Amino acid sequence: MPATVRDIAAALEAWAPPASKLDYDNVGLQVGHPNRAVSNVLVALDLTPEVIDEAVEIGAGMIVTHHPLFFRPQRRIVGDDLIGGMALRMAEQGIAYYAIHTNLDLAHGGVSFALAEKFGLKDIRFLEPAEGTLIKLVVFVPETHAEAVRNALAAAGAGRIGDYEACSFETKGTGRFKPGAEARPHIGEAAGGLESVQEVRLEVAVMRWDLNRVLNSVRTAHPYEEIAYDVYPIEQPASRVGSGAIGSLSDAMPLREFLGMVSQRLDAECLRYSGNPDQTIKAVAVCGGSGSSLIGRAIASGADALITADVTYHRFFEGLDPEGSHGMAIIDPGHYETEAHTEQLLVEYLAPRFEAVSFQRTRERTSEMRTFVIT
Ligand SMILES: [Zn+2]
Repeated sequence: MPATVRDIAAALEAWAPPASKLDYDNVGLQVGHPNRAVSNVLVALDLTPEVIDEAVEIGAGMIVTHHPLFFRPQRRIVGDDLIGGMALRMAEQGIAYYAIHTNLDLAHGGVSFALAEKFGLKDIRFLEPAEGTLIKLVVFVPETHAEAVRNALAAAGAGRIGDYEACSFETKGTGRFKPGAEARPHIGEAAGGLESVQEVRLEVAVMRWDLNRVLNSVRTAHPYEEIAYDVYPIEQPASRVGSGAIGSLSDAMPLREFLGMVSQRLDAECLRYSGNPDQTIKAVAVCGGSGSSLIGRAIASGADALITADVTYHRFFEGLDPEGSHGMAIIDPGHYETEAHTEQLLVEYLAPRFEAVSFQRTRERTSEMRTFVIT
C-alpha cells in the first residue's frame, strides 16, 4: 500500500500533536489533497521558491517544512506575492505542503532535544516542562470489562508518563445505579430497582488534546449506555511536552573552547555571545530558534551557558549576576544555525516508518540571513 499525505501527517502528529502548538502558530497540512499517494518527500527548514524547484525536479509529492508557509491569515492566493505564488505553484504541481513548527519545538525528542544532542549533552531533559497540558481521567467500569477498557485507554495513548506507556491505577468498589424508564441498562431493567455492581475505578493521565479521542476509545470497550467518568486538571507539568532542553557536557571546558565547538557543530561562521571566555561551561541549556524568553529559566536551572537565537542587545545583559560578573554565558549562533538540524531529525524519524517512501533533506541553505566578515 503506497503511503498517502494523510499517513505521513498522522505519523508526524503521533509525535508532535498539532493541538500542542503555541496559540499564535499555524501547523499541519496547508496545501494539497490528504488522500494523494506520495513516494518522495522533501524536507526543509523554510519553504522557498528554490525548495519548490527542487521538489519539482526530484518528483516530490510532498514538502514538509518547520517554518509554516501560512503563518498570518491569508486573504487571497494570488501569484503576485511570495506566499500566494508559492502556494499556487505547489497546487499546480500537485505537491502537498505540511508544516510542523512549534508542536515540534515542544515535542519530546524535538528541535531542542536534537540540538542538545549535537553538543553531546548527557541527561537531556526539558528546560521548561509545559504546564496545564495534563489531565486525569477516571473511568468507572464493571470488573468484567476493566481489562478491555484499560486496553482501550492505552491504545488511544492515555497513561504515558515519561518513557512509560499504558500507566494506570485501579481500585475496586461498588457502583450503584437505578435505571430510568427510557434506559437500556447493561445490568438490570428499565424502570427497575437499585442495582449494585462490583466496579473498578480506573485512573490514567491524558494529554488535554487527546481527551476526546481517548473517550471515544473507551466507549468502544465499555458496556454501559451512560459511562460514569471524571476529568480533573493536573497541576504538575507534563513530562513529554516542554520548551528548550538542558543537559551536561561530559567534560567541562572554558567558554572560549565551547564557542569553537558550537561554531563548528552548527556550521555557524560567526556567533554573538556574552560571557567571560575563561568561565567554565558544564551545564548547557539550548533552545532552537527564538528562545530569549527562556534566559531566566536557564539561569534558575543552573545552566552555565544558553544557546539560542534572535537574542536582542539588552537581553545579553540578563546573563550577568547581581555583582555584574558573568553568571551564565548567552550564545546566539543564528536562527537557521540552531534549527537546520531539524531537517535531518524529520528525515530520520519518517524514513524507518515508510519503507516505500523516500525522504530527503533539501540541498538548499534556506536562510536569507548573511553575515559580512572582513577578511
Ligand atoms: Zn524557527
